[in-house]
Amino acid sequence: MKTTQQIHEYHLWNKLSKHRSLVSFNIELTARCNNNCHHCYINLPAGDTRAIEKELSRLEINRIADEAVELGALWCLLTGGEPLLRNDFSQIYLDLKKKGLLVSVFTNATLINTEIVQLFKQYPPRAVEVSVYGITAETYEEVTRKQGTFIAFQNGLKLLLDAGIKVRFKAMSLKSNYHEMQRIAEFCRSRSDDVFRFDPFLHLRYDLNEKRNKEIITQRLTPSQIIALERSDIERTDSVKKLCNQQQNATENTTASNLIFNCGIGKHDFTLGWDGTFRLCSALQHPECVYDLRKGNLKDAWLNFAPKVLNMRREPNSIDDCYNCRLVNLCSWCPAHSYLENGSLVTPIKDFCESAHARNKAFGVIDHQTSEHEEI
Ligand code: SF4
Ligand code: SF4
Repeated sequence: MKTTQQIHEYHLWNKLSKHRSLVSFNIELTARCNNNCHHCYINLPAGDTRAIEKELSRLEINRIADEAVELGALWCLLTGGEPLLRNDFSQIYLDLKKKGLLVSVFTNATLINTEIVQLFKQYPPRAVEVSVYGITAETYEEVTRKQGTFIAFQNGLKLLLDAGIKVRFKAMSLKSNYHEMQRIAEFCRSRSDDVFRFDPFLHLRYDLNEKRNKEIITQRLTPSQIIALERSDIERTDSVKKLCNQQQNATENTTASNLIFNCGIGKHDFTLGWDGTFRLCSALQHPECVYDLRKGNLKDAWLNFAPKVLNMRREPNSIDDCYNCRLVNLCSWCPAHSYLENGSLVTPIKDFCESAHARNKAFGVIDHQTSEHEEI
């Protein structure tokens, strides 16, 4: 049974969802991380001085968070890189809590210590979401490429769980931990009642680093590995089947308007980048979609800049494949990921596309009518 209610399950959300209004925002506190995971899309070295110099200061974060609250925000997520790498993490966390915000934290748990746990006990986060890369030292450190990180992860997680801090788990599935995914799922589900999610769709890096992108691509699971993984997990099988059955609805409203963004971004949230950028979703790095909050302010970004991005259109009468595709729910395709992969907001992502077709063949409907008869 899951214990953390999702934001869209609240009655208040139904009221808010009818209009464009700010509800939440993500803060990338840093692009640095103490790990060096193969698949990571945002991890500069922990001691990268140029990155440190560009990071938003506590003062700047407070200024922008105050503006966000003024615009109606109730909730914020602290993420990275690894947010606990910041020496001023505790002060920033406390600043946000004192503004009355609900605060969630994404972490790899390796830097959790007694002081952080004490802080979380005194000022509880809405949730702490921990990424699990393996449940043996060998696999975990094959992913993170840093010795000693498995012990640090185990210690940090134990501190959180022993203190009764609400933890939610997630995992990325990649070649380096594929063989352990079932055990990772068991490990996570036995330690938290909350939803455990794993994701085999590895998107490319925010900094467009070509060398690191090649590493990410070599870590992507093949379509048949994804299917095998999803078949071996009953909860996952059920949720993928549901996605397959929703596929017609996914594109119903997308073809007529020629809008580039049909996914609901920018309606209720935004991402504050580690270097002061304003983005409508964390992955959306296209230069025309990024606003510099160091040169402007959040009110201008939210009220004037964002609507222009949301109004960006495809070529008139274009029939871009992904906007007419009934499998879009199955492939993690979106304009932001398309840009990271292809340098264009509107083109298919080959690897994702192949996996979507394989998932549909394995779990879904081929011709909109045969789902019950499909052999799985
Ligand atoms: S722990 Fe997370 S942020 Fe750090 S390198 Fe791994 S995936 Fe990236
Ligand atoms: S990437 Fe392929 S499966 Fe995904 S939406 Fe585009 S055409 Fe459809």
